[in-house]
Amino acid sequence: MENLNCNKKIILVCHCFLNCKSKVENFNEYNKNFEEKKKNLIMNLIKNDIGIIQLPCPEMKIYGCRRWGHVKEQFDTPHFRDMSREMLNPVLNEIRDYSKNGFNIIGILGVNGSPSCGVNLTCSGKWYGEFSHNHNLNDMLASLEMVEESGVFIEEIKGLLEENNLNIPIVGVDTSNIDNIHQILDI
Ligand code: SF4
Repeated sequence: MENLNCNKKIILVCHCFLNCKSKVENFNEYNKNFEEKKKNLIMNLIKNDIGIIQLPCPEMKIYGCRRWGHVKEQFDTPHFRDMSREMLNPVLNEIRDYSKNGFNIIGILGVNGSPSCGVNLTCSGKWYGEFSHNHNLNDMLASLEMVEESGVFIEEIKGLLEENNLNIPIVGVDTSNIDNIHQILDI
């Protein structure tokens, strides 16, 4: 196929790399520095002529703007997993077609810490139930911890890639590595 572009590199990014409005309300204020770095990362990808595919935001699609922050256990339901796969299938078809036509899918960027899009780290805790009549609310909130697992959406991406024999590196982005993504992916 004739290639009108000088390079055939494509990256997939979790939705909020390009649209931070999809994050849980107030999260961007809390993490301003990281959000600024994400913008720089995207600008560098564009400058390097890397095609960018934006993945859907599962939390926004399923729970909308007014959702609370959740932990992984709350999204770990058959329905959330089914919906994740349903959202990912059209993207998977694009990846398969790009790959068949000589494009190089250089990686997928996830968001470490997210209960959905974390890759090496996700938030876990014994969160459930009614807020207003919960006498153990403080204990429940204090059960929050980061665990070395992927979020639910990324687990489903990994499953789909494996089932389709697609070998694409998935990088969990966080404050420790966001300045080095170009080296990690050898862009
Ligand atoms: S679910 Fe994923 S894409 Fe959506 S806001 Fe959270 S980390 Fe970003």
